[in-house]
Amino acid sequence: MAKKPMRILPEAAKNLFKKAATSKYPFEKAKLYEGYRARVVFEKEKCIGCKMCMRVCPAKAIEIILAENQPQPQTGPDGNPMPAKKLFDCIMNLDRCIYCVQCVEVCPKKALAYTQDFELAQLDRKKLKLHYK
Ligand code: SF4
Ligand code: SF4
Repeated sequence: MAKKPMRILPEAAKNLFKKAATSKYPFEKAKLYEGYRARVVFEKEKCIGCKMCMRVCPAKAIEIILAENQPQPQTGPDGNPMPAKKLFDCIMNLDRCIYCVQCVEVCPKKALAYTQDFELAQLDRKKLKLHYK
């Protein structure tokens, strides 16, 4: 049954002077809480290419690939060539990621970390595929 208009008026007047329950995002910065998990970032120098992150990812959102440019073999103290550490790139498919950060937790070298960068909306889906080199 609809409320009588006169009964609604005091309630409406009371709410006119209350602090708004909503925020004016994007004109006001959103308040993020500690531990808020958003875009995952990658540190190439730390990665050993074990692909544990790929195995645990439930959304198949992360790919670790051999980097195009690899360092040249170095010369060891005995004068023989020493194989250089291989370098890897990370491809992050943000359109699949569910921000569970299992990849971050499993990484043995702490090459992955989550950030609070949550403003990731794009009109072009291709832009949601990030290639961290
Ligand atoms: S788990 Fe870490 S070290 Fe292993 S491939 Fe992934 S990012 Fe690299
Ligand atoms: S945060 Fe979760 S869904 Fe996103 S890449 Fe890492 S493991 Fe996959």
